[in-house]
Amino acid sequence: MVSACLMGENCKYNGGNNCNEKVLRLAADNEMIPVCPEQMGGLPTPRVPSEIADGVVTAKDGRNVDREFRLGAAKCLKIALREQPDLIVLQSRSPSCGVKQRYDGTFTGKLIDAPGVTAELLMKNGFHCVDVEDLN
Ligand code: SF4
Repeated sequence: MVSACLMGENCKYNGGNNCNEKVLRLAADNEMIPVCPEQMGGLPTPRVPSEIADGVVTAKDGRNVDREFRLGAAKCLKIALREQPDLIVLQSRSPSCGVKQRYDGTFTGKLIDAPGVTAELLMKNGFHCVDVEDLN
């Protein structure tokens, strides 16, 4: 399973992607399941960027988007439970997909050592999640 933006899908908040050579190489001889939890939660692309502040996912314009983020995470978990992926490779620092770090909720570019909501839910359920930066 993989963050869809890493496969080149234009699902990033700004309408772009995070196409990654290492992921494309992995895809050459492995079955891949691309997921974008933010789109799956019902958010549009492009969309206002969000961060997690005091446990609540909030868009930069002040809108509470916690429900959408958690819905997307729950849908990803459902797919993972069904498909039992050997490995889940996720985009760094995303409020959804970040495995090791995410922004601190102040929209000032500060990082903290904590996962995004989807990565957290998948890891809590025993799935092996790897930050794309650690993919060798
Ligand atoms: S939610 Fe995850 S898959 Fe979707 S654009 Fe953000 S990092 Fe990529």
